[in-house]
Amino acid sequence: EELVSNSAGFERGPDSDADDWRSLRNKIVADDGSVDYKGIEQVSGRHFQHVASDALQQDMYSAIVDDPSVHPATRAHFRAAKQLGAGAVLGIANIEDAVELPDEAFLHEVQGYLNHPRGAITLATRCTGESERTKCDYHASKLRECPPCAVGAAKEQHILTRYEHFNGTHWDGCRYGGHVGTGHTSINTHVISIARALGAAGSLQEVKLGPRDPNRAVDKESNPNQRGDGVLGNWTHSARRMVFDGTTITAVQFRKGMLGPLARGKHLATDYAEAAKRSAKAAACAANNYDFMTWAASTRGGIGREAAEWFTTGFAAKVALARSDGEKWRVRNERKRLLQQHSAIIARRNWEITQRNAWPRMGGVAPRAPPVE
Ligand SMILES: [Zn+2]
Ligand SMILES: [Zn+2]
Repeated sequence: EELVSNSAGFERGPDSDADDWRSLRNKIVADDGSVDYKGIEQVSGRHFQHVASDALQQDMYSAIVDDPSVHPATRAHFRAAKQLGAGAVLGIANIEDAVELPDEAFLHEVQGYLNHPRGAITLATRCTGESERTKCDYHASKLRECPPCAVGAAKEQHILTRYEHFNGTHWDGCRYGGHVGTGHTSINTHVISIARALGAAGSLQEVKLGPRDPNRAVDKESNPNQRGDGVLGNWTHSARRMVFDGTTITAVQFRKGMLGPLARGKHLATDYAEAAKRSAKAAACAANNYDFMTWAASTRGGIGREAAEWFTTGFAAKVALARSDGEKWRVRNERKRLLQQHSAIIARRNWEITQRNAWPRMGGVAPRAPPVE
């Protein structure tokens, strides 16, 4: 009764499946808005538990992300944690190579997904990022004070709060050491696996696209040459092949001007990545007769809207083509497994960057299993 009359989550349903929800709600709620107990009996008991629990979860989620008194970074975090595939690694039931994580990486990912401070990071932790020409702004030689303090060389300096520092936000994307690049390659390889699971041909290649604006001559500064990460094609679906570009973006951006829209749900971090890639590469792709898609992963393991749409549509078609319930079940499991692998790749990447580039570290490591008596 409480759910039917007072729950916005029940009224609208979870954000992700509004349509299915409507048909279910019509069974449970009578025309006058009261509970239809006969309807509840028609929906099997276990299914009804799911329905009720989904509605409650949606209410709890909205209570956090819509509450202006909650820290904007927390609100932004929970929005990112709800994207397709985010945290999928935590739902793994069957371990195999593609989803296995070292204990430390698993703990690191759990902390990230729960918006818990990263256990390994202390106030003294700094970036080890250093090359012959440059040092990272978070290197001990540049970040001498203790957070909260200013960081970076911008005119209006960014204030590194303890919240941001302990969340290890910098190590979500520090480029030193090449671990960002390794993660990038792993995600791109995974996109190819997904394309093949969807019956498309796919290959990883640096696709030369010509200049950003195809109507002007190449200019290193104002109109540089663009490349894509790979090509996907499915001639049953479209005569045009599609170039994709993979990128991974920090889910919770503390930079001014970005955190507010992320907290309010106006944008997801992956939206910014998609917009940037689209403006750099889409016109060049069209000039070469390619469609273009950005595969934008967030550091919470979620997938941006463009790629999520492609993934969801592709798998819906594959489920629809399956001829038996058993086959449908296998396709749905394949879909889930690909999301778990995606999330595992991001988790390994996140931990690798932190492990190599953050020092000193304390704790934050899973305890050893106790000896067998
Ligand atoms: Zn760094
Ligand atoms: Zn890329």
